[in-house]
Amino acid sequence: MSALAELCDEILTCQDCELARHRTNVVPGEGTEDANLFFIGEAPGWHEDQQGRPFVGPAGQFLDQLLASIGLRREEVYIANVIKCRPPQNREPLPEEIQACRRWLDRQIEIIQPQMIVTLGRYSLARHFPNESISKIHGKPRKLEGIIYYPMYHPAAALHQGSLRPIIEADMLKIPQILAKAKELPQEAAESQQLSLF
Ligand code: SF4
Repeated sequence: MSALAELCDEILTCQDCELARHRTNVVPGEGTEDANLFFIGEAPGWHEDQQGRPFVGPAGQFLDQLLASIGLRREEVYIANVIKCRPPQNREPLPEEIQACRRWLDRQIEIIQPQMIVTLGRYSLARHFPNESISKIHGKPRKLEGIIYYPMYHPAAALHQGSLRPIIEADMLKIPQILAKAKELPQEAAESQQLSLF
């Protein structure tokens, strides 16, 4: 069994916060262990809780379309959430729940070692850049300690606010170009030029 599969099995038994009492299924994440791209959403919703898989509701269908727009299928990337169990009535996750769940995502990132982490939505953004506003930094890559961080709006945002849809689509279309340019740059140059890449 791979290190990632072993980790996911471990996550399935987690009881480290209140959300364990409310879940139908834990949603550890899915995709390939050698993914270049790691998408991090917020928390499972009803569909995800039912199926134990991330992004399988309407927002997930939009994410699949976005991936297809850059020639990818979800099997070729990794998709997970900041929180692995659904908060009741889809309420916002509490700080203590985010903290309790943090170690799982840390370990997933450690095993996968993606080239780029795409944060989807504000909880995912806040995990890495707590003082930033998504409306200001979406679509702008940053390279920190060898990983490119790329903030995007959550796909669900487009379902509630149609005007965000073209913005999300345009941000996704920039990803292949960012990856291609990042590969050409040595680590130091990429870091020093992080805000001038695009
Ligand atoms: S949300 Fe995270 S920390 Fe809480 S029970 Fe689920 S897996 Fe464990």
